[in-house]
Amino acid sequence: MKINGHTKIAGLIGNPIAHSLSYTLHNAALEALGIDACYLPFPSPDTSSLKNLVSMMRTPGFVGANVTIPHKENIIPMLDSIDRNAQRIGAVNTITKQLDGTLLGKNSDAEGFLLSLENASIQYTNRNVFLIGAGGAARAVAMILAPHVASITIWNRTPAKAQKLLFELRKKDFPNNISLSFCADPSSYPLPPKSILIQCTPLGKEDEMPPHPQLDKSHTVIDLLYQYTPLLQQSHALGAQIQDGSSMLIHQAAISFSWWFSVPPPIEIMYRSLHKQRKIV
Ligand code: NAP
Repeated sequence: MKINGHTKIAGLIGNPIAHSLSYTLHNAALEALGIDACYLPFPSPDTSSLKNLVSMMRTPGFVGANVTIPHKENIIPMLDSIDRNAQRIGAVNTITKQLDGTLLGKNSDAEGFLLSLENASIQYTNRNVFLIGAGGAARAVAMILAPHVASITIWNRTPAKAQKLLFELRKKDFPNNISLSFCADPSSYPLPPKSILIQCTPLGKEDEMPPHPQLDKSHTVIDLLYQYTPLLQQSHALGAQIQDGSSMLIHQAAISFSWWFSVPPPIEIMYRSLHKQRKIV
């Protein structure tokens, strides 16, 4: 990649972000398509650095950015507008610079997650879902699955955030009579057979085991982290169907890429770059 005076800038805002594979995916795609742009890390440990980064995004060289933990919700009031999908989810994972220079908040996590299920032929219609977490990613997953599944049960470290998400889901009045509930103690929760458990927190990145209900081979276990976490290892050993977050990562990245650069995203190149990188890590 050759940087010059016209090179456009996109990147990732969040903390921690050093481990992210998004740099690999986006820069491989930019290079393959010959787009004069680069994708860089923008670490943002607190609200004041986040505000500074949002101001910087307003300068001409930037096309936009992805937003990750812990800023997907608190960035919303700092942007000029939020599209309907991100408003419905209550979280922004992509900022796009508009032609008039304003910053629009969007969300590619929900669609990226659904595409990852469909690509792996994971059936979700009418199944019971248990969510670990109630942050931006969990919000996206809950909102996209809610019209299709039988129930969603949520546990979160901060119970009030799970309750808030459940309150917002109840207000949506989905046509499928979905059952929505809060779980205070995952370890004693009787997870119905054939449920889908979706892990939407950073627990597992450092080999932690998140609190979870007892699992068996009838369950599907999805971890949004893109590594073989202890939860996935244990579930695999029990014979459960498992999936990590790498397919979601690629699909949400591809959608954001198409918003910034107005070209069809080179998904195959993104897949190949990710697998090459993971072999090295
Ligand atoms: P977020 O909006 O900041 O939410 C973080 C969530 O994790 C909250 O539920 C938070 O609970 C919980 N959490 C954080 N640290 C915790 C801890 N030590 N113990 C228990 N719970 C903890 O972030 P996010 O965007 O939802 O991301 C969550 C995870 O999903 C991240 O690891 C991210 O990398 C991953 N993710 C992957 C993809 C993908 O494409 N594969 C996409 C999005 C996210 P509290 O409410 O109590 O703080």
